[in-house]
Amino acid sequence: DVRIREEIDFPGMLLPEKILNGLSSNGFLKPSPIQLKALPLGRCGFDLILQAKSGTGKTCVFTIIALEMIEVERSDVQTLIVAPTREIAIQITEVVRLIGSGIQGLKVHSFIGGTPFGEDKNKLSSCHIAVGAPGRLKHLIQKKVLKTERIRFFVLDEADKLMESSFLKDIKFIFKELPTNKQVIVASATMPPELNKILTEHMKSPVRVCPHGEGEAPILIGVRQLVIKVPAHPTTLQQLNLKVYGLVKLLSCVPFRQCIVFSNYLTRAESICHELERRGWPCKHTAGVLDQNERMEAFSALLQSRCRILLSTDLTSRGVDAPLVDLVVNLDLPNNGATYLHRIGRAGRQTVSRLIIRLEFDQLDLVSWTTSMYGSHGLAVTLAAEGAEISK
Ligand code: ADP
Ligand code: MG
Repeated sequence: DVRIREEIDFPGMLLPEKILNGLSSNGFLKPSPIQLKALPLGRCGFDLILQAKSGTGKTCVFTIIALEMIEVERSDVQTLIVAPTREIAIQITEVVRLIGSGIQGLKVHSFIGGTPFGEDKNKLSSCHIAVGAPGRLKHLIQKKVLKTERIRFFVLDEADKLMESSFLKDIKFIFKELPTNKQVIVASATMPPELNKILTEHMKSPVRVCPHGEGEAPILIGVRQLVIKVPAHPTTLQQLNLKVYGLVKLLSCVPFRQCIVFSNYLTRAESICHELERRGWPCKHTAGVLDQNERMEAFSALLQSRCRILLSTDLTSRGVDAPLVDLVVNLDLPNNGATYLHRIGRAGRQTVSRLIIRLEFDQLDLVSWTTSMYGSHGLAVTLAAEGAEISK
């Protein structure tokens, strides 16, 4: 009796029992399309370029591959995962710990700036999987606190961001310090073709895995996108006031569970927060310039639903997985198209069916809205100054 399996679940992928337990206890029963495509290749040792839209489960791909190859009886770092922000590094650490919870003795730690260097030394005395932001990892490697000779698996999450000029030097340094014989996986929702050259320099004949088809833009079909034109104003302050007014209007009529409001600058973040809190929406703000404790407090408040709205710079536009966020508002246009996709991707983490929408705006006044079913996922609204455009 030969039957073709129509649906493959994780047990059907012949993963080790311990990893299966970690997956199922976290409610991961079936692989997502990117996981189904990438895991067999990755588990065979291929270098991979994972390009799949936000929220499709890229973290779990490199987590499973890392966990499967760890030798827990050794105490040295065998997998190194790099992410562009401390928040993403901490989030990945959590995912690896959860999925690896069935592996006795497994040690996973994050290494990020803004925390005492001395603590990192302790953590590294026994650490199998190190996750961190580029600056701190480079520092630890330079000081020979983080030893690289046993690293067999190297991951760059949000790889295109890590290849930007602000990080590239650190990334190249880390690559140079790693053994030649290792597997490399790079992941992102956006992977501009200009990166091919540098990627192939550092990877061994990488296989590109992109479920949406090569060369196609990773369109976020799940996120409904609207633009509200804000009339030009003589001063940026007046313009901002008008946008905050538009934001308040929007939040009052669109049902949302949690919302991230992005802005390039976050001037007046505190007063905007007060304004929103006064109207009954618990609110936090975050930005790269804040100190580590403030950043972590804002981030965990979002994840633990202690706030409904997070005001943020592009610090959280990538990688952050806050499943209840179903509304993203851009207070201004991001600097490029990739950032736009990442920002609105925060509203597309989970399949939810929602009621609303046809919002009709006359300038900033919401003149009417009708409700109708629209697909899964969330909503992104951009408040764009008249005539503004996003560069490619
Ligand atoms: P990406 O990095 O591709 O943007 P993440 O790895 O952050 O996406 O995953 C997005 C969300 O999907 C997370 O909340 C994660 O827990 C969930 N998820 C990932 N894979 C599965 C799976 N196979 N089954 C159920 N949920 C999953
Ligand atoms: Mg991710």
